[in-house]
Amino acid sequence: MEKECFAFNLKLVLMQRTFVPMGFEDMNMRNGRALSDQWADSVVVRPRTTEQHVKVHKRLVLGFAISILTLIIVTVIALSVSFERCAAESSGTLAGNGSSNKSSQSRDRSISHRVSEDGQQPWRHLRLPATLRPRHYDLRLSVYMDNFTFSGEVNIEFECVNSTKFIVLHTDRLEVTKVLVYSDSKKTGVMRIHRRFYHQPNQVYVIALHREMKPLRTYKINITFEAQIENELLGFFRSSYMLYGERRYLAVTQFSPTHARKAFPCFDEPIYKATFRVSLRHESSYQSLSNMPVETSTSDEDGWVTNHFSRTPRMSTYYLAWAVCNFTYRESKTDNGVVIRLYARPDAIQSGSGDYALHITKRLLQFYQDYFKVKYSLPKLDLLAVPKHPYAAMENWGLSVFVEQKILLDPDVFSFSYQMELTMVVVHEICHQWFGDLVTPVWWEDVWLKEGFANFFEYIGTDFLFPKWNMENQRFLTDVLHEVMLLDGLASSHPISQEVYEATDIDRVFDWIAYKKGAALIRMLANFMGQPVFQRGLNDYLMTHMYGNAARDDLWNKFSEAMQRVGKVINITEVMDRWTLQTGYPVVTISKNDSLVNTVTISQEHFVYDTDAKIRNPQLFNKSFQWQIPLTLKVGNSSHVSRETTIWVCNRTEMHRVGHMDGETWLLGNINQTGYFRVNYDLYNWRLLIQQLMTNPTIIYVGNRAGLIDDVFNLARAGYLPQNIPLQIISYLSQESEFLPWHAASRSLYQLDKLLDRTEDHSLFSDYVLKQVSPKYHKMGWPTTSSDGSFMQAAYHSQELQREVIMLACSFGNKHCHRQAVSLMSDWISSNKNRILPNVRDIVYCTGVSLMDEDVWEFIWMKFHSSTAVSEKKILLEALTCSDNIYLLNRLLNLSLSSDMVPDQDVIDVIIHVARNPLGRHLAWRYFREKWDILNSRYGEALFLNSKLISGVTEFLNTETELNELKDFILTCGGAAAPAFARAVEIVQANVKWRTLFEQQFYQWLRKAPGG
Ligand SMILES: [Zn+2]
Repeated sequence: MEKECFAFNLKLVLMQRTFVPMGFEDMNMRNGRALSDQWADSVVVRPRTTEQHVKVHKRLVLGFAISILTLIIVTVIALSVSFERCAAESSGTLAGNGSSNKSSQSRDRSISHRVSEDGQQPWRHLRLPATLRPRHYDLRLSVYMDNFTFSGEVNIEFECVNSTKFIVLHTDRLEVTKVLVYSDSKKTGVMRIHRRFYHQPNQVYVIALHREMKPLRTYKINITFEAQIENELLGFFRSSYMLYGERRYLAVTQFSPTHARKAFPCFDEPIYKATFRVSLRHESSYQSLSNMPVETSTSDEDGWVTNHFSRTPRMSTYYLAWAVCNFTYRESKTDNGVVIRLYARPDAIQSGSGDYALHITKRLLQFYQDYFKVKYSLPKLDLLAVPKHPYAAMENWGLSVFVEQKILLDPDVFSFSYQMELTMVVVHEICHQWFGDLVTPVWWEDVWLKEGFANFFEYIGTDFLFPKWNMENQRFLTDVLHEVMLLDGLASSHPISQEVYEATDIDRVFDWIAYKKGAALIRMLANFMGQPVFQRGLNDYLMTHMYGNAARDDLWNKFSEAMQRVGKVINITEVMDRWTLQTGYPVVTISKNDSLVNTVTISQEHFVYDTDAKIRNPQLFNKSFQWQIPLTLKVGNSSHVSRETTIWVCNRTEMHRVGHMDGETWLLGNINQTGYFRVNYDLYNWRLLIQQLMTNPTIIYVGNRAGLIDDVFNLARAGYLPQNIPLQIISYLSQESEFLPWHAASRSLYQLDKLLDRTEDHSLFSDYVLKQVSPKYHKMGWPTTSSDGSFMQAAYHSQELQREVIMLACSFGNKHCHRQAVSLMSDWISSNKNRILPNVRDIVYCTGVSLMDEDVWEFIWMKFHSSTAVSEKKILLEALTCSDNIYLLNRLLNLSLSSDMVPDQDVIDVIIHVARNPLGRHLAWRYFREKWDILNSRYGEALFLNSKLISGVTEFLNTETELNELKDFILTCGGAAAPAFARAVEIVQANVKWRTLFEQQFYQWLRKAPGG
């Protein structure tokens, strides 16, 4: 699943800061999937229903547990044995896994819950009782698009694992009209139902039988039900689009993580894999799709048609999918005969907007087959482009669904960044056909296993498609590593493997920690294992667990085995548990040892921005926070650099001998930034490194140049280094001709700017930045010709660099840059011909709107309505938020929320972008608080949207007053428990603290800076 469909192009935002610079998150949207909400991640869960029920539940459980304590003691052993067997049979471990204390605790708790209630009231447990196991579903649905309802009948064959009278399975919002249970024994017959009822708190439907079902026997349940095709983005939902002036409707599913139960009664946990046969009946004016191809199709006389789809392989419920629409498609076929179709609005198909994604999908299927040495499992793969979706995309097996902006590429107008973002979403979803669909995490606590891999392979797969983009060595650093280390440096972060008990926890695990930290850890692992061994381990893992489930220890074991085969004995579980079960990451400090020659002292500690957190919460930062760190190291000077050595750092402080060092020799750690940690040095070493950058930067690898910049800014922000060091390091930028270090620098500068942009002395900072940027800006100028596809690859880095520099120049107020943008806008308006190159359109539009009068805003607003190209629409909408006219911003906010002029999912981006505009901040912050009830009810359940919104409107707050406003608001809105609010408070606290402690020091240096 790809988070976050609505990624606006971050850079735009920057432009809003033309006069008064602003927020630091902007850069992070660079790559789409909302890098923007780097602080943000998971959901604000809707507390009303679930938490209340959970409380009730806990009381009941407690009372109940006491009353049957004796029974528990007697039965615990027997039941846990049978539970284990079930778990083992359902492929490996359930819920808990492996050797770590935490996971075995989690398993124990899981077992004891079940034990205490099994046979009594199993529906009160948060998880399904492990007494039954589904094998096959026959699902027939009739879909009524005229009134958006559907009726269905499901036949589930299941096996009894432990004797029970109860069938407990999930339903939500379904009206169950009839239930029949059959025993399969020789005298097949209907079993008498004692009673049946819905237990809302756990979204389960319970059928109590008169007599027990017996182990190892199979049974069948037949349930008839009815429900709505919802107007929200979960379960089986509807959306619409305009075609030739007419509104058309479609209905599609989104079941991950827990919404299959909204469409049919099922055992809706990933471990309960089964096969499925789906039949869809609908009016013949529509077509229908599902995971598998249509096997037979029958037509009724009344103009209705029924499609019977082939049986699926064993799979989890949340990957089942179907759609009813009247789209058209383009088709392609792999060498192995897998049919790939891209379905979209007829006009989009006709204009060729789907061709690019179709083309790369074909290549990617082949790439992954070769890489994993495991064939794609299904006969076909459909990609469905829908106008509305809660995520960028969802990897349903054989029927992956994408929001239009992440799969349609208008052949005439697109920018690099749009193309790259879209490419990566496709690469991500195709990877999931293996990591997710074929091998599924046992339980949601290890969701990072699939998301981390898909996120990591975004870069590997894109490198396959476009080798010159060099994604894994370059963009991975800024877009994943730097990004997630910001988030994971908060004391309120959490371990990547999180315990998940309650329904509300499930939403929470889909956050940037799972996606990006997962990817960063996998990259670190791949690097220290070596690529061939890593690949071999993956193959073994997939082959062993295909069509089943796996937990992280299953993967670690395969990796350990792969290492052993090449003669390296490393216990991967032991190493990786430190990284997956502990919060955060270390900062490694390397310093020359004064008393021993050629020796360095290396120490590690948990990196946090708010060092007070360690004092406030000592138990969280006790001595157990230690990592096993594969530290790569080089020593060098202006003429020579040593070979890379790897040191495993396991203790708090260690001494190591390195190559020959003299007074001019610098040390450099974490080569190519393959490790998930920061590196600090003694000040003398920092000076040597800065000197090296000034005289000959290329002697240090480009990834490390970007890494040094990111580390230095963040170490200073957390108080590990004096504030002048980051400012000194960027003065080498005029020597820098590569995109990546510039990109790392601009990300850091925008962050800093957010803390400073409302201070009196702000111009000291912006002038200093412009001084570093302007020589490059004038040297590179503006792009004059658009690149075509063949030119694209080679030019990628230089074009991105040019764009980055233009953006910095315009954002921090370079007059030439402003004039250029205004003249390009004027040309468009007067000629009504848009000759602005796609790569800089967002910059020009935004700068134009911010500098020019109201007519320009109206012009862009009009173009927003008339444009049909999704990428263009997106940047036009963003540009509208760049205005300095509060009245217009207010109008935009109101129109977004209360009319259908702005698509639902874009509303949040509008609010966030208004917040990024320094002149719109107070407006957005106030608007957010006033409209919270509406926003929360509309987006509360859409996993990331709410938290993205919360971080988007609060991250720039940096005064004591604003901090108090935030705290007050959280109290009144009852959001105190929500992780997004906890994070918001910590970020704002850190902002306030930085200003108190360091702002003066920072400006003092700037006042004295050479030419500053
Ligand atoms: Zn994903």
